[in-house]
Amino acid sequence: MTLIVQKFGGTSVGSIERINAVADRVVRARLAGHDMVVVLSAMSGETNRLLALAHDLHSDPPAREVDVLLATGEQVTIALLSIALAQRGCDARSYTGAQVHIRTDNVHGKARILDIDDARVRDDLRKGRVVVVAGFQGVDEDGNITTLGRGGSDTTAVAMAAALKADECQIYTDVDGVYTTDPRIVPEARRLECITVEEMLELASLGAKVLQSRSVEFAGKYKVPLRVLSSFDDGPGTLITHEESGMEQVLISGIAFNRDEAKLTVKGVPDQPGVAYAILGVVADEHINVDMIIQNVGADGTTDFTFTVDRTDYRKATTVLEQIAKKLRAREVTGDDRIAKISVVGVGMRSHTGVASVMFKALADEGINIQMISTSEIKISVVVEEKYLELGVRALHSAFGLEKGQVRTGSVTHSA
Ligand code: ADP
Ligand code: ASP
Ligand code: MG
Repeated sequence: MTLIVQKFGGTSVGSIERINAVADRVVRARLAGHDMVVVLSAMSGETNRLLALAHDLHSDPPAREVDVLLATGEQVTIALLSIALAQRGCDARSYTGAQVHIRTDNVHGKARILDIDDARVRDDLRKGRVVVVAGFQGVDEDGNITTLGRGGSDTTAVAMAAALKADECQIYTDVDGVYTTDPRIVPEARRLECITVEEMLELASLGAKVLQSRSVEFAGKYKVPLRVLSSFDDGPGTLITHEESGMEQVLISGIAFNRDEAKLTVKGVPDQPGVAYAILGVVADEHINVDMIIQNVGADGTTDFTFTVDRTDYRKATTVLEQIAKKLRAREVTGDDRIAKISVVGVGMRSHTGVASVMFKALADEGINIQMISTSEIKISVVVEEKYLELGVRALHSAFGLEKGQVRTGSVTHSA
């Protein structure tokens, strides 16, 4: 017997017709002899609809109550799928995150899974039942409902697969795999047969929404066999591999982008030890994640401190920065929430130089100004004005020849 975890995203359960299609797919897998755990998202658009309702009532709704509200979206689809399975004579049980003990920390809106007590799920599987679990939600130590951040159902699925030691975790979505970049932005983007966990983690954390980055982290840590597939067609999808060896080394695997960030600058901060800590400390205390950081020292002995945060945290970050800026006697706080980050990712960068110069030239040729740069071993990211996002991604996709097949290492060898 093999155990498979299948996760279906919002579009894949977006209507009664789509839920029937999911039920057919689950029954097929069951008839093929697999033990099945199914993780579902809310119907597409539902999480946004619920969020908008909360914001109609309150400009900054209490995070605990938002989680109670958002968790209802997934509760609808798990019940509907179980009903559709019952109609097919398939014994199925739906469970909320709390019911299957998906225990998380208490950071509402972006909770992290701590552990899963899988006894109940295993018991149902032993009885031949299909187990249908609500994605995106868990429960904290005090029994409060939590949610795992947007796209969090992917993480529920991979965490369930890890806890149950599943033979494969299949993420069914509205594209037939992981592409060289978002095919909605670049129609010439190509599906990848496979991609390393490391590259996928970079792409996901840099904005490729096809998988939530926490899910890839789990897959890497617990060696979960993970595949992204289409719920609309049959096909091999994309396998997330745990080893690089045996794969032809590619220079650039993909391009990710993120328009969900904002940039903040504290200007004219006295250049003294402890300043970075003072600024980032107050931001961290608010559970705001900081991404790129730049510090420039001016001639007058003061420094400008710039960093990016999630756009949803922009207002909160501005407020706490204005307070700390006063304390530090900094000149002013400025911000820009119309920025976008574009990143090229590939393990081939480790052994080959020249990627940065190809990237910067492609952007320069389009007249796109680079505001910030950051690099790691296998990625280069730039911040640009948001209006240049699509143009920049297309230019880079073509500069690295991604539509034709990936540039193999060796093609770019000159120094950056
Ligand atoms: P789901 O509701 O199934 O979780 P998502 O909308 O979260 O689906 O993720 C799938 C979407 O991710 C695709 O429709 C596509 O627009 C987007 N996407 C972004 N980057 C990529 C990529 N590199 N490969 C495939 N899809 C991508
Ligand atoms: N429904 C949640 C969202 O829209 C979780 C998910 O779909 O993965 O973000
Ligand atoms: Mg998703």
